[in-house]
Amino acid sequence: MTIESKVQKVYWAPTRGRRYLNKWSAVRAEARAIIRKHCPDVKPCRCTPGYCGMCGDPGWSLDIDEPLRYSRYMRLLTNALMVTMK
Ligand SMILES: [Zn+2]
Repeated sequence: MTIESKVQKVYWAPTRGRRYLNKWSAVRAEARAIIRKHCPDVKPCRCTPGYCGMCGDPGWSLDIDEPLRYSRYMRLLTNALMVTMK
């Protein structure tokens, strides 16, 4: 077996801060990262009686709590990212 040095095309997703070998993985990861940046998750409350009186705040996440909005953003962003890809 011989080691070969190869040049391979990679796709850089700047918001996600990672490179991908697959175009679609890069586009999806970048779209998810952009959505997370604009609509960040709200962590659920770690309720204790002394801290919040057991408010029961379950937190919030776009993909879980507003799946239709999330899928619409994903569709728009993945399309835009595909069109503007260099
Ligand atoms: Zn609480």
